[in-house]
Amino acid sequence: MRVSLFERDGWHCRYCGEVLTEATATLDHITPQWKGGSNEPDNLASCCLMCNSIKSGRTYEQAAPQLLERIASIRAAQ
Ligand SMILES: [Zn+2]
Repeated sequence: MRVSLFERDGWHCRYCGEVLTEATATLDHITPQWKGGSNEPDNLASCCLMCNSIKSGRTYEQAAPQLLERIASIRAAQ
């Protein structure tokens, strides 16, 4: 189940685009479970460890400013 979701997302973080490996791939609940988010594939996003810890239980809208900062810092380092 997990691996099939990572394959669906092409082994890339849905938030920052980083390439994922077995060691770094996690699944994020797009709508957190406390907000009624399901365990269905359409509520699960492949996500790197860093983005998962940034988002940690928040909605995308709540976490977006920090996620965008992370993307900007990755781009700046390239
Ligand atoms: Zn990420």
